[in-house]
Amino acid sequence: MTDEPNRIQLIGYLDEALPAEEMARIEDCLRQSESWRAALQELVEEVGSGDHSLATIWRRHRLTCPSRERLGAYHVGGLVPDETDYIRFHLEVVKCRWCLANLQDIEAQQRLAQPVPVEVAESTMGRRRRRFFETSVGYLPAKDR
Ligand SMILES: [Zn+2]
Repeated sequence: MTDEPNRIQLIGYLDEALPAEEMARIEDCLRQSESWRAALQELVEEVGSGDHSLATIWRRHRLTCPSRERLGAYHVGGLVPDETDYIRFHLEVVKCRWCLANLQDIEAQQRLAQPVPVEVAESTMGRRRRRFFETSVGYLPAKDR
């Protein structure tokens, strides 16, 4: 029932760079799957023998992070399918916490920058016009009421 071991996820796991639920999911995979344990072991040995730390490897993977501009374009659906797929993979499979945080920030900024929805603007205007009418009607000569 487990997926194939994913090297990038394992690196993120070892570096504790993944969201909590993803850490838990990988722990489950490791408990249940021999191939996940073997992949983890291999990774740990590679890190121990080489001159690059986990953080270095993780950073190298992060070099494939899309820029903030590309993330913004992804967010509004303005990318070609290939790039959309790549970024979706990066966010949903790799679950790169930097890019996820970046995307969240972009979303928050866009919410702030968004113009007031038309129907809200109109009902506000309607209320204001009505209030204006209600307050001014008292000043009109009786024959105009
Ligand atoms: Zn990233």
